[in-house]
Amino acid sequence: MIRMNPPLNHAVAPAPEAPSPECPAPGPWTHRFASLGPTFFTALQPTPLPAPHWVGTSEALGRELGIDPAWMRSDEALQVFTGNRVLPAMQPLASVYSGHQFGHWAGQLGDGRAILLGELVTPQGPMEVQLKGAGLTPYSRMGDGRAVLRSSIREFLCSEAMHALGNPTSRALCVTGSPAPVRRETIETAAVVTRVAPSFIRFGHFEHFSHSGQHVALKQLADFVIDHFYPACRHASGNPYAALLEAVSARTAAMVAQWQSVGFCHGVMNTDNMSILGLTIDYGPFQFMDAFNPMHICNHSDTGGRYAFIRQPNIAYWNLFCLGQALLPLMDDQRQALDALEPYKAVFPAEQQRRMGAKLGLANVQEGDDALVESLMQLMAKDAVDFTILFRRLCDEVHPVGPHVQTVRPEPVEGHPHARLQQAQPERPSVRDLFLQREAFDAWAQRWRDRLQSQPGFDAAATAEAMRQVNPRIVLRNHLGQIAIERAQAGDFGAVDRLLNALAAPFDEREGEDDLAGFPPDWAQQIEISCSS
Ligand code: AMP
Ligand code: MG
Repeated sequence: MIRMNPPLNHAVAPAPEAPSPECPAPGPWTHRFASLGPTFFTALQPTPLPAPHWVGTSEALGRELGIDPAWMRSDEALQVFTGNRVLPAMQPLASVYSGHQFGHWAGQLGDGRAILLGELVTPQGPMEVQLKGAGLTPYSRMGDGRAVLRSSIREFLCSEAMHALGNPTSRALCVTGSPAPVRRETIETAAVVTRVAPSFIRFGHFEHFSHSGQHVALKQLADFVIDHFYPACRHASGNPYAALLEAVSARTAAMVAQWQSVGFCHGVMNTDNMSILGLTIDYGPFQFMDAFNPMHICNHSDTGGRYAFIRQPNIAYWNLFCLGQALLPLMDDQRQALDALEPYKAVFPAEQQRRMGAKLGLANVQEGDDALVESLMQLMAKDAVDFTILFRRLCDEVHPVGPHVQTVRPEPVEGHPHARLQQAQPERPSVRDLFLQREAFDAWAQRWRDRLQSQPGFDAAATAEAMRQVNPRIVLRNHLGQIAIERAQAGDFGAVDRLLNALAAPFDEREGEDDLAGFPPDWAQQIEISCSS
């Protein structure tokens, strides 16, 4: 459907205010990446878009970055974050990188539609601010340099949702839209996401300079990353670049363990989408799983299932191997790279165990916990149990929450073995009801309860509360995103804002958000998300 000129929703996007000395533009700015020199990028200007309007803003991120809220609502901000105006202190550029896509060397790629404006100096240190969808670059290849509204909303919401879940991720400050038509499978409209991260350097940047034999630039890039982001590697015993590889491996392992623990599928784990800082970046056909299926493939374009949920930890390792290969010219021998990759095999399982244990209320990891988790996952897979709802209900199983929950069960009347069943109204949704094989679940639950109660000083209420801090109630399910997108395509951005607010507090029991915390509707299974964005 062609939707041109979506009307502004003034309830969400207040009328533009003129910039004034009372609402100064953000600053100061620096640009350490630009200091690397033109081998690494092409300086260029964003291409303006007509009649921009606000789609969504993360006020929380704006505050963290020290951006004046009044300026953030100004027309100047709208123009800047659409790429229509460049502040004097910015130095827009597109960087060059290469990468392996779906297991094959793809050669040069680069920022085909991302433009790095500079680094905003914030209380957390310098933060790169990047526009995605701001026009053609020398690396656009066959693309148009644009991003469409639907994928921009998904990236915006997911960046902020992942952050609130505690997952290392790039952030998203805002999305703006324009009636400018963009051709995908149909004609859609353009949008720009403003992304924020300490650095957007990818594994693919290293692959680019290594594979093209530019080893001086490769070393310069590695030194840049070490000096600014991994200073301890400079002082590590042995080769600093091997130390860098090891540090990146550890961060990547921790990141993927977090993905697995919330049922997050990235969808396109190509090496050009892997952050050197171990951040989740480039949100495309991602998905938070509904029904648990270890082989779940969220990317409709991934016909072979290379990036299926259960394969993500191995794929991350494969990608680190590519990074190791790219860094080889800076090492003394291959052994150094292989040794640096080795810890991944310990860090990932340890992180995974710790996180899955915490989800079950286990304060530490013991022998047998792996098997406990594995049996649950097998039961969940067999019965296609909803990933998020299952873990959230397990919290209530330990100790219920909320005033609406009746905590006292009626005692069975003597002589009536089924009296409990007859008398007790459903007090709260039970975990057991999520399974078809209820006896199998009961057997598992007994093992779990025994393990919980074996913990010294076990306190059910405190354990349930701790579990609620790691088992989210609300995640960005595909259908929730889809509803917000369709409303936004019709010109109403209220649903984007409401979802952003709910996703900012994913662990809280908040009233009025039951529709965001429930099972997906049947039509959710028909949503197909591909690389088209
Ligand atoms: P992705 O699969 O989104 O990570 O993109 C892979 C590569 O294609 C990156 O180099 C992107 O910059 C580039 N790319 C994707 N979509 C477009 C587009 N519409 N215009 C220009 N480049 C694009
Ligand atoms: Mg990408």
